Amino acid sequence: MAAVRADLHTHSTASDGTDAPAALVAAAARAGLDVVALTDHDTAAGWDEALAAAPEGLEVVAGVEISAFSLEASGAEVSLHLLAYWPDGDEPALAAALLRLRESRDTRAQRMVSALAADGVAVTWEQVRADAGPEGVVGRPHVARALVRAGLLPDVSAAFTPAWIGGRGARYWAEKEELPAADAIALVRGAGGVPVFAHPLAARRGPTVTDTTIAALAAAGLAGLEVDHPDHLPAERAHLRGLARDLGLVVTGGSDHHGTNKTTPLGAETTSAEALAALRAQAGTT
Ligand code: AMP
Ligand code: FE
Ligand code: FE
Ligand code: ZN
Repeated sequence: MAAVRADLHTHSTASDGTDAPAALVAAAARAGLDVVALTDHDTAAGWDEALAAAPEGLEVVAGVEISAFSLEASGAEVSLHLLAYWPDGDEPALAAALLRLRESRDTRAQRMVSALAADGVAVTWEQVRADAGPEGVVGRPHVARALVRAGLLPDVSAAFTPAWIGGRGARYWAEKEELPAADAIALVRGAGGVPVFAHPLAARRGPTVTDTTIAALAAAGLAGLEVDHPDHLPAERAHLRGLARDLGLVVTGGSDHHGTNKTTPLGAETTSAEALAALRAQAGTT
């Protein structure tokens, strides 16, 4: 197969990226990509603008990154992200589930802001909501940006620590709703989409799942593993490649570009033409 440059993981202002969908697509073309997937958190709101902006020679893939969790044998609930490519955004069950996740993101960010305000930190929900934009999904980066604007932190990354909103147990942490991973896979398949486990072993983001969980998710309809991701170390990638081979899963890659909220450029990680074709072959088969 001819070499293609496909980045299958990016975020726009529809969630916690800083490029509007059309600007992201233009940047993808400038970066020399042949394929770019828009995978905003829990929303399809950026798709129309991104698809309409695709220039000759650049394919835009409609995707979403769904907030989910797995219940591990240890009893721990581990948060995870499920990428879904080409799902029907109007399929009622998936659309309703995504709406619920977005609503829960609003109330969770409000709880974080209230806890910060109670400690005298000058941030308001109105600011955070406005920063996310009228249709934008609120995420921790928006709360982080408010802390940067208030002069408390040097950059967005500095908020992802135990002193602020860095994860369960962090001082101003609040829980958001997540879908059981197998349910999320079923919803994606039910909407004709192709589910891929995003950054499955990115330990620096928090606890990760066991191989047993990955095997169970494969049996539940998972199509692929995002092996090539900036947060994966070489040993994690090697382990995941072995798992993908054993379980018959497609190996994908993506930059997880978030504009200036993170530093990874578009095209920093890519998916092979063969893998893209293998995913495409599964699209629309509910
Ligand atoms: P949320 O989905 O609202 O819990 O927020 C998680 C998001 O925060 C991720 O999708 C990333 O965009 C962002 N994020 C996580 N860790 C960092 C970090 N160290 N620096 C900047 N952004 C981060
Ligand atoms: Fe994000
Ligand atoms: Fe993610
Ligand atoms: Zn992402």
